[in-house]
Amino acid sequence: MNAAPESFPEIRESVRRLCAEFPGKYWQKLDSERVYPKEFVEALTKAGFLSVLIPEEYGGSGLGLGAAIAVLEEIHRSGCNGGACHAQMYTMGTLLKHGTAAQKKTYLPRVASGELRLQAFGVTEPTSGTDTTRITTFARKQGDRYIVNGQKIWISRAEYSDLMVLLVRTTARDDVAKPSDGMSVLLVDMKQAVGNGLTIRPIRTMINHATTELFFDDLEVPTANLIGEEGKGFKYILDGMNAERILIASECIGDGRFFIDRASAYAKERVVFGKPIGENQGIQFPIARAYVQITAAAEMVNKAAAMFDGGQPCGTEANMAKLLASEASWFAADMAVQTHGGFGFAEEYDIERKFRETRLYQVAPISTNLILSHVATHVLGLPKSF
Ligand SMILES: Cc1cc2nc3c(=O)[nH]c(=O)nc-3n(C[C@H](O)[C@H](O)[C@H](O)COP(=O)(O)OP(=O)(O)OC[C@H]3O[C@@H](n4cnc5c(N)ncnc54)[C@H](O)[C@@H]3O)c2cc1C
Repeated sequence: MNAAPESFPEIRESVRRLCAEFPGKYWQKLDSERVYPKEFVEALTKAGFLSVLIPEEYGGSGLGLGAAIAVLEEIHRSGCNGGACHAQMYTMGTLLKHGTAAQKKTYLPRVASGELRLQAFGVTEPTSGTDTTRITTFARKQGDRYIVNGQKIWISRAEYSDLMVLLVRTTARDDVAKPSDGMSVLLVDMKQAVGNGLTIRPIRTMINHATTELFFDDLEVPTANLIGEEGKGFKYILDGMNAERILIASECIGDGRFFIDRASAYAKERVVFGKPIGENQGIQFPIARAYVQITAAAEMVNKAAAMFDGGQPCGTEANMAKLLASEASWFAADMAVQTHGGFGFAEEYDIERKFRETRLYQVAPISTNLILSHVATHVLGLPKSF
């Protein structure tokens, strides 16, 4: 379907081969039972796809975001879902960029080999929402430990992760010069924490995403697990968010291509009124429009990834890529349901599952309005509304 040559064709081909082992039936069963795709995550880890961004000296492949987006796009285009593990790719960036030499040596090789899962990223809180500077989960220093108290929400994969990158306040918002000061990043050993101050409560959602609520009640975290400097955590998290947004955008591109592939195939074979429905322009044009939108969004994703890999500031491009890709995949999802008629609702066709799954990306990891606000105020110089 792609007019332009694909980037990283060999990586894409091997991801497609791996994904063929995990067909729709596998995902349908997990989805209905809300089970974590353990076998799929293990296969991706073993094949080295989750450690593409980890430098070779720590056992990864040392590739850039350009390769990582090829992996996630193909996972999603194949009808699989990378949401169960995509954080393994980007969460380690915080450790890689801001961790000490000792922290990197301790954790990164074990993350690269798959011995440790670093898939949980704890930022959002029930009362702060998108306004991250208002988080209240607090880590109080006591000797060589931090004592953490508070609550997080929507923390995905917490039950299936060995480590979590956690954003906390170490100084109250009222006691700092800028609201974004006074936050810190801790690396939490989940196996040690659960039952010793950390309680995880799963939240059932419209998709199979293993997301949870976390409750911290005097959880002790060694001060040695502080990443970077105390009080500078917000900046570190923002750094990682650009990678996250670009990677999620590539999942949307994969979803969009999945819907276009499936809708095109179905429109060619489904015969109604004595001819394939795809002969009708009322069916063709939405498929063509979805293709146009996904192709354009993919260009923006590629641009943002190239800027990220080139070490250029890319906050605006990462945001724009995520907005365009999530809207294009949602248009494609709606189009695919319409093209399939009643079968768009049948679980065995996977359209309804992917339709639900791709809807997430206009809300998480950042919602569309917040991206528009960034463009309006940071790029166009319009007055701030908050
Ligand atoms: C399935 C799932 C998985 C997630 N996984 C994680 C995770 O692993 N780790 C993590 O930390 N978080 C995670 N999140 C949280 C996610 O990042 C947030 O849900 C998202 O950023 C939106 O925040 P909120 O839900 O608090 O919405 P709110 O901030 O309450 O906003 C609600 C709505 O109001 C709009 N809005 C808010 N303020 C304004 C404004 N000033 N102007 C215009 N519109 C505004 C928003 O755009 C949004 O549409 C996950 C969420 C979901 C649903």
